Amino acid sequence: MYKIDHYIGGQTVGATSDRTAPIYDPSNGTVQGEVGLACKIDINLAVTVASEAFETWSDVGLMKRVSIMFKFRELLEKNRDELCRHVVKEHGKVWDDAMGEITRGIEIVENACGIPEMLKGDYSQQVGDGIDVYSTRQALGVVCSITPFNFPAMVPLWTIPLAIACGNTFILKPSERDPSCANVMARLFSEAGLPDGVFNVVHGDKVAVDCILEHEGIEAVSFVGSTPVAEYIYHLGTANNKRVQALGGAKNHAIIMPDADIDQAVDAMIGAAFGSAGERCMALSVAVVVGNDIADEMINKIKYQAINIKVGCGMVTDNEMGPLITKEHCDRVKRLISEGQGQGAKVVLDGREFEGPKGNKNGYFCGPTILDNVTKDMSVYKEEIFGPVLVVVRVESYDEAVKLVQNHEYGNGTCIFTRDGDIARNFTRKIKVGMVGVNVPLPVPLAFHSFGGWKRSIFGDHHMYGPEGVRFWTKIKTVTSRWPTSIMAGANLSFPSSD
Ligand code: NAD
Repeated sequence: MYKIDHYIGGQTVGATSDRTAPIYDPSNGTVQGEVGLACKIDINLAVTVASEAFETWSDVGLMKRVSIMFKFRELLEKNRDELCRHVVKEHGKVWDDAMGEITRGIEIVENACGIPEMLKGDYSQQVGDGIDVYSTRQALGVVCSITPFNFPAMVPLWTIPLAIACGNTFILKPSERDPSCANVMARLFSEAGLPDGVFNVVHGDKVAVDCILEHEGIEAVSFVGSTPVAEYIYHLGTANNKRVQALGGAKNHAIIMPDADIDQAVDAMIGAAFGSAGERCMALSVAVVVGNDIADEMINKIKYQAINIKVGCGMVTDNEMGPLITKEHCDRVKRLISEGQGQGAKVVLDGREFEGPKGNKNGYFCGPTILDNVTKDMSVYKEEIFGPVLVVVRVESYDEAVKLVQNHEYGNGTCIFTRDGDIARNFTRKIKVGMVGVNVPLPVPLAFHSFGGWKRSIFGDHHMYGPEGVRFWTKIKTVTSRWPTSIMAGANLSFPSSD
């Protein structure tokens, strides 16, 4: 059993209250540790420490900030295995998948090393006689990120590097279900030379989140998690005058056209529907197949591959899919499968029957599941399942397929499989979704673009990281200046203009 404490001001700090949460090993259902949950006193301490650190950190030269970020990147690389082990042991995903999320997180740190370029600003010379104007972006102050369980390394890294490189000081409130990676990152930041108090971690649940949202010392809150909580956070945070970006849930559709390369589409669907046991906000959980002939062929091929996916503990090297995060979540996924069946879906492959690998009978496992003949009124179609469940909707035409995507409440990611350039172009232009793939199943933007959905997959105006991230973590200032010269022509009370 281990204990996870907060990390405030460059050191571990025990929680003030005696409230704790268990940390489960999802592969066998045992409690492996516990995390202390923050109350108002802990949040106040973190904000005080971060506010003090802001006074000096925001004045530290850009190149110094960059050199710390380079060092942090080097340390993340060096400590990959430690981070990966925490992801696998606490989240449950398999080793290679966990390594993948760490790589994607490190890419954001690499991008943040280019912050001088991104903060260069604009300059206009001689806008009037002897007058120059420049615009620059400055840090906000103390900022905070609240993150979900499903990417305990990558999602925190979506926000931390850019926010800190921009000159802010930071409080991370990670998911209480897999909290260890956050503390490793805090330790590595200290080793990289980041001054104490610039990066802090407070662990907790709704109590901590509410204190963050109501604290007047916090300027901005970035959130990633489920839609109901994202909506709540956006409203409470903005009501307390904070800048908020809140990314929510998803139901990502893949449209498979009759001219698609079926084998390519099948391989893509296997990875995107069942990878990480479907616990990805970019999972392709709905296959919309245009035409009955290819639907039969595709489903048979997907079933053939899905049945052979090796499901088990993430620490066992050749396993391909791990357990779900908690027993409650596993029960919910299985209940939704039963609901779908009850509402008329055909169960082609049934993950409810999967008992768990040998030696891990108490793990939170659900096997790959395929539901055919799903319709838009079924709960398995409407709700985000967040499990290894692929639902198949059969349609007659491209227009019918597009209508489904447009009318769904979520708009995070989508993808089309086709060889037809006209169709692909029409799809990418018209579809009301934030991240779109053409024959690419998981169109997760790289670090130098930005990540985010549309509709009820996001609340707030800014997407994550990349150019949008820099805008979110800074505010603009525009300076107009003139130096005393002979051209100054005395006082003038009219509004300044070039006439
Ligand atoms: P969650 O909403 O339960 O929790 C997210 C965070 O909010 C956690 O830190 C948690 O402690 C906190 N929280 C939980 N309930 C709260 C409440 N009632 N009030 C205040 N704070 C609360 O989400 P999760 O189960 O950890 O993560 C899975 C969800 O995250 C899925 O819906 C998934 O689609 C979504 N997600 C979205 C993206 C994206 O980029 N859009 C990325 C990853 C995950």
